[in-house]
Formats: sequence, structure tokens, C-alpha cells
Amino acid sequence: MRIPLIAGNWKMNTTVKEAVKLVRDMLDGLDRIEGVEKVLCPPFVFLAEIGGILKSSSIKLCAQNMHFTTKGAYTGEISPLMLKEWCEFVILGHSERRRYFGESDEIVNKKITAALENRLKPIMCVGEKLEENEAGRTEEIIGRQINQGLNNVQPTRNIVIAYEPVWAIGTGKAASGQQAAATIKFIRNTLAKLWSEDAAQDLRILYGGSVTSNNVAEFISQSEIDGALVGGASLRAEEFVNIVNQTAAIKERSLPAEQSKP
Ligand code: PEP
Repeated sequence: MRIPLIAGNWKMNTTVKEAVKLVRDMLDGLDRIEGVEKVLCPPFVFLAEIGGILKSSSIKLCAQNMHFTTKGAYTGEISPLMLKEWCEFVILGHSERRRYFGESDEIVNKKITAALENRLKPIMCVGEKLEENEAGRTEEIIGRQINQGLNNVQPTRNIVIAYEPVWAIGTGKAASGQQAAATIKFIRNTLAKLWSEDAAQDLRILYGGSVTSNNVAEFISQSEIDGALVGGASLRAEEFVNIVNQTAAIKERSLPAEQSKP
């Protein structure tokens, strides 16, 4: 059984005041939802503040990036050692990091390795650009991102993969549920070849790209899709709680009868 996961990536948004209000506005609603792992990814500088508010809740914290060494002369960087005091998860290889900060698959691989060594769970993002999609290169690109990003990484359940087509991020043009499920199936097959069928079946694979409360059901109702990485819509408390609520209801309905009994 793969526990569904919804993560809200706030990106480079909110002041500390706004961040605290946002988390307080969603706290009660999110906390009471069962059957879904709920994860918030605020900017680094608010992790301690938000961590304090979430302390006795069921909501987990995630960083948006990290460096691959534990300490040293890397001005401006944040290390896994610093993050693990606050976070259980860390987003790695987000397309905005790849695009604006030149992160290669090799760097993503180093970061994944460092995160696991420091007991942080990576949410590893993969996805093709529009022109790659249009040229029919989706599987080639994603196959490369998975194989190189996980090079020499031992099979583990502690990684979450997020399939985020670059053309769907922040554009309002989400993939269809079927499109996303087909690519996620391909990702699982790639993992089965790299690791084993069992290891691939154990891993959670999310969809990300313009997910809202209006379209989340389309993704979550696909058995291949284990949750969502939500950007813009996670900046609105009611909207984000609604997305998590729908996820819990849909995944609960799809459980075999004996497992859905209280
Ligand atoms: C993201 O930041 O990973 C993302 C999917 O953003 P959005 O939901 O805004 O498309």
C-alpha cells in the first residue's frame, strides 16, 4: 500500500507574516484529514517558525532545495545537516532549479545521495519541456532523468518522485489524468528495470503541474498516481485543504473493502 502524499510548494513567496497566516489558516483543516501524508514546503527562512506552529500536528515540513555537502565554503547555500533539524522531506531537481540554476542530472544525483545519507526524504522532480513533448521525446528525457538522477542509489521507499511536465508548471495547462498516468507508468517501469519490480511498486509517484481543487480528482482517481506536488494552489489555505480532502476521499474509496474499515 502506498500512502498518498500531497505537498504544497510555496516557492519564493510570502513574507514571514503571510507565511504564518497561511499555515494557521490551513492548520486545523489539514490536521484532521487522515489517510494522506500532508507536506508543506515553505522558503528556508520560515522553516523554524512554521516548524514551531506545526509541532504537534500531523503536517510535515519539506525544504525546496539543498546543497550536496554537509558544510563548508559554499556561501549562500543550505546543507542537509541544517535541514534535517526541521524537515523530513526536501524537493530536489525541480524544473525551476534545472532551468534557472543550471542543475544537471549529475548534481541532482549528488543531492539525492546526500539527502538519503542525512535521512532526508527527497521529492525528486522529473519532467519534459514543451518542445521535447511535442517532438515525442518525453520517455527519452524522463528515462534519462531517472537513470542518471538515481545512479548508484540503492532501492529505497524514502524517495518520492514527482512527474512535473515543465509545460504544465504555473501555466494553468495541466496534463490530462490519462497522460499523467501513462508517463507515471513509464517511470515505474523504468524504476523496475533500474531496481526491481517490488521496489518500483513501493515508491510513491506524484503528478505536479497546475493542480487545483477543480482538477485534482482527475489525477488522484488514477491508481498509478499517488498524490500531487502543488505550487500556486498551495498558497490559498482553503484551496489546499480542499485538494487534500478530495485526495483522502478518492483514495479511501479505492481501498479494498477490508482495508477501508475503521
Ligand atoms: C510546482 O511548483 O512544482 C508546481 C507544480 O507549480 P504549479 O502547481 O503552480 O503548476
